[in-house]
Amino acid sequence: MNERDSESVAYDLVTRGYELVTHEDHADIILLNTCSVREKAEQKAIGKASQLLSPKNDKKITLGIMGCMAQNRGSELSKNIKGIDLIVGTQKFHRVSEYLDQIISKKSSNNLAPIVSIDEEVGSQNTINQHLNFIEPKVTSFVSIMQGCNMNCSFCIVPKTRGRERYREIEEICEEVTRLSEEGVREVTLLGQIVNAYGRGKFKSVNGKTPFVQLLEKIHDIRGIERIRFTSPHPSSFGDDLIEAFGSLPKLGNYAHLPMQSGSNKVLKSMNRPYTREKFLSIAHSLRSINPNMRLSTDIIVGYPGEEDIDFEMTRSAFSEAAFEMAFIFKYSERSGTPAASMADKVPQVIKEQRNQILLDLLSKQSIESNEKLINSKMNVLVESKAKKGGGELIGKTLCFRKVIFPADESMVGKSLSVVIKEVDGSVLKGTII
Ligand code: SAH
Repeated sequence: MNERDSESVAYDLVTRGYELVTHEDHADIILLNTCSVREKAEQKAIGKASQLLSPKNDKKITLGIMGCMAQNRGSELSKNIKGIDLIVGTQKFHRVSEYLDQIISKKSSNNLAPIVSIDEEVGSQNTINQHLNFIEPKVTSFVSIMQGCNMNCSFCIVPKTRGRERYREIEEICEEVTRLSEEGVREVTLLGQIVNAYGRGKFKSVNGKTPFVQLLEKIHDIRGIERIRFTSPHPSSFGDDLIEAFGSLPKLGNYAHLPMQSGSNKVLKSMNRPYTREKFLSIAHSLRSINPNMRLSTDIIVGYPGEEDIDFEMTRSAFSEAAFEMAFIFKYSERSGTPAASMADKVPQVIKEQRNQILLDLLSKQSIESNEKLINSKMNVLVESKAKKGGGELIGKTLCFRKVIFPADESMVGKSLSVVIKEVDGSVLKGTII
């Protein structure tokens, strides 16, 4: 999501005459787009900003902090980051170029207070709609369809940093995707903090289909778009219509992300996640019944306040039962202002580390097992780019969202090819074209 927001800001800057450079050493202006989901991400951004503005650096740059941490901390950031010029929240990305023009025109006067812009702005969800494909053509693009989240999970800072849910209109999203397809994009990833709740309470369900599924169907009809992905969904908005869509809309492929967070009903309740372990596992089961080759991933938090051994054991067993093949496993990070921050029974760091490691080991086992089953099978791969290490190899993804590396000519980028899988290297598959 931050990548997408940054691209939109970069587009505005380029069209206003600013020039993008490929390395921070060559930049006169640096904007850091930030995350607040965990404490560590905020510390990292503050460290980076302080280093860039250090008096030891000969070059004086203009520095801005954008996004969730700017929203979360506002003008207080100028105390931690001496010399910062700009603090821009999550509803003001589209104003960055305007602010930079102002800052640059006044830059000769020393010690100016930073511009701080973190208010809400009606309609700001409609402003993240331009792409930089004209500079670097891409095969796959992010499309922001909504902003904000109304869920209030006890651990989560996102409702504070991103605000209430605001949706873009179906027609506008489809226009953007059509434009992308005309520019050569073959895969879109729809983005939202609770992406599958898109349009709830604002647009009507039609024939039992939620606005999100209606949107998926419309995008599915757009010529040139071969694959549709979405992130980040919430299990409680994973209704039957969305599960059935995986059967009726082939462009969705056979991969779904289902953030479980915990397998213990006690912990789920305390997290204010409105589903049970049983309900969650039944969604996973239904997805695997719709398509036996379905690949599932999840998000887990270990060490949430009050998580006892028995709760963690429930998470471990649900993780194994759902047979997740990919996962983001997080150690609980206390976020001030969230309900969980004031809860008792904090879990010690060493226990968090242990639980984290147990799940990482289980994940690695489940992932390798399922990847190895693919050896000698033929898979459809959408070719994205040259593989980073070069050497005449390209990289692409399967319909089940696995990375595949194979030798081929660069002219194949953007094409869908059949690749036979020959070996598994961690989470990456290696193969040859047929
Ligand atoms: N909208 C998604 C979550 C997006 S944030 C959902 O509700 O499922 C990405 C992930 O960060 C979350 O799924 C959660 O696992 C993790 N996360 C959020 N807050 C956290 C915190 N305080 N500590 C640790 N991990 C956290």
